[in-house]
Amino acid sequence: MRIPQATIQQILSSVNIVDVVSQYVPLRVKGKNHWGVCPFHSEKTPSFSVSEDKQIFHCFGCHAGGNVYKFLMDYKKISYVEAVQELAQLLGIHISYEDQTDQKEISELEELYELNEEVIKLYNTELYESTAGKTAFDYLLNRGLKQATLRAFQIGYAPANRMFLSDFFGANSRKASLALKIGLLGKNDQGRVYDRFSGRIIFPIFSTNGRVVAFAGRIIEKSEYAGKYVNSPESSIYSKGKILYGLSHGKDDIRKTGNAIVVEGYLDLISLYQNGIKNVIAVSGTALTEGQAMLLSRYTKDVTLLFDADEAGVKASMRNVDVLLRQGMNIRVASLPSGEDPDSFIQKNTPADFLHLINQAQNFLEFQTIYYDKKGDLRDPLKSADIIRELLRPVALLDDPLKQSRLLSSLAERFKLSQQLLEDELYKIQRKNQDLYKPAVEPPKSRVQSETPASKAPSAQRMKFERFILKALLEGEFEIVGFIKKNIELSEIEDSQNKKIIEIFYSLHDQELDVTPGAVVDLLQDQNLLEYFTGLAIEPYTVSEEWEKQYPSLERNLRLQQMVLDIVKRFKISRIQEELKQLQHSLGTETSPEKQSVLLGEYKELRDTIKIIESKYKTIDNEEIEE
Ligand code: ATP
Ligand code: MN
Repeated sequence: MRIPQATIQQILSSVNIVDVVSQYVPLRVKGKNHWGVCPFHSEKTPSFSVSEDKQIFHCFGCHAGGNVYKFLMDYKKISYVEAVQELAQLLGIHISYEDQTDQKEISELEELYELNEEVIKLYNTELYESTAGKTAFDYLLNRGLKQATLRAFQIGYAPANRMFLSDFFGANSRKASLALKIGLLGKNDQGRVYDRFSGRIIFPIFSTNGRVVAFAGRIIEKSEYAGKYVNSPESSIYSKGKILYGLSHGKDDIRKTGNAIVVEGYLDLISLYQNGIKNVIAVSGTALTEGQAMLLSRYTKDVTLLFDADEAGVKASMRNVDVLLRQGMNIRVASLPSGEDPDSFIQKNTPADFLHLINQAQNFLEFQTIYYDKKGDLRDPLKSADIIRELLRPVALLDDPLKQSRLLSSLAERFKLSQQLLEDELYKIQRKNQDLYKPAVEPPKSRVQSETPASKAPSAQRMKFERFILKALLEGEFEIVGFIKKNIELSEIEDSQNKKIIEIFYSLHDQELDVTPGAVVDLLQDQNLLEYFTGLAIEPYTVSEEWEKQYPSLERNLRLQQMVLDIVKRFKISRIQEELKQLQHSLGTETSPEKQSVLLGEYKELRDTIKIIESKYKTIDNEEIEE
């Protein structure tokens, strides 16, 4: 059962995102947009904006963005279909579901998800039905896991045969090439393809919505030569910084209990789950990223870190504290008896014992103090100054002055220090932090994971003109999109993100569908792309307004037509100008007269092309194109 695309579009064109959002987030008009305090990260001054004419939202703080469906999905933690259904009901639009079978072309992302589903089914079958899988299966049962738990986490077994998947898919099949893309298959130096996961127990890694986005493979027999775990690389469906293992299974319980327990390992989480403790996420051996902390903070503000009692475990909890504090989370730290990890603890004790342990968790500051106290550092007057600074560092990250001052007075009491002294110290640290955490100039993210590693980043100049094209498309006018589509081919766009977005505009136009930003956003599945797009769309600057200022007397249609002519012209000419620049450079260094004359010929040709373009896209304002 599927909701027809037309209904989805109909809803989008009837609903007003501002009305919907303001039911949940108080908004105020400022300039062109509506502003509020972002519901997706913690902040005091509003950086969450909603655009009525673009029908999208975007947060300048956490970069969350999307259309009205995305807002409801993220805000109410519901699925896409549920969001559509909710709005349909609100608007009184009837949905007549259509059969899945006539589903048209599915996007590549969808294909990748489906590939993962298919592969995990294969691995499941191997675990339960093959002879080699029996060893893995017995191992898991021996570790106390029940079959129902294995099923709940779709645990599987990848056979030792390194050609298992490529044989199954066929060496040159589409599926094999997709599998290569997401790292199910690897390629060796000789160009031979092999299975990344072989002879390992497989844990699928789920997105928050429960789709399989990646895999982790655990070795069965301890080996000196092979790592304990092998993981999928990042891909267009798997961004490590934005996936939390266990959130798919635990999100409801996290919300219900108002607390997320953070553990290290997959097996810790699975073992706890089996014992009815489901409000858990696993950090999988790495430090939490900013993105993961932000994701988690959408479900709860209270976390309990539960790490192995060893030194490494304590260090691990410490390094996760900062990133969680910056998201405004309240952190407590629970300590396990020495030598135990959450998995071994729950196997030896009852769930009630475990919950007792969680309830005994200390405030992180207390935990740190006791930790340093135990190490004896606090009794050493020289060291203690450093330690106090160390203790204050996380306090400085808190967003809440009241909490801060409470913590300060408890520290003052404990160390018999004046509160003023601590406050001064805190102030110093805060000053330093401000420099450190200035709005980070983020590198263009998704270009890193774009599919063609060979494509280099376009020059700033090209980027500027490509964005002009996007800006023109963002006007949401069917005719404008049509004109640009007719005049600019996708191959002329260099930046991969821009290209993907323009492709969507073109394909909506081909299907004679709505080309408004709200509709385009609906088809952007990649999170980075979504953030980039909404960021661009929410900018108060629009090209049509610029033109309106310049030519107030022109009739609107004519003005838009002139505008798009001008943009296309500049785009085309800027490409040639880049070539000209290169030629000029070559001319300057070329010494052979024959070659020079060839270059000059090319140079002249390009100048002529510019003239042709100028006359083809003639506007009333045919001024020189500035650099
Ligand atoms: P087990 O209980 O079988 O030892 P575990 O999942 O509890 O498995 P740990 O050794 O406690 O594993 O490691 C914690 C987490 O760290 C793992 O779940 C995994 O995500 C990650 N990890 C451990 N070793 C590796 C490795 N060699 N490569 C990549 N990740 C690893
Ligand atoms: Mn373990």
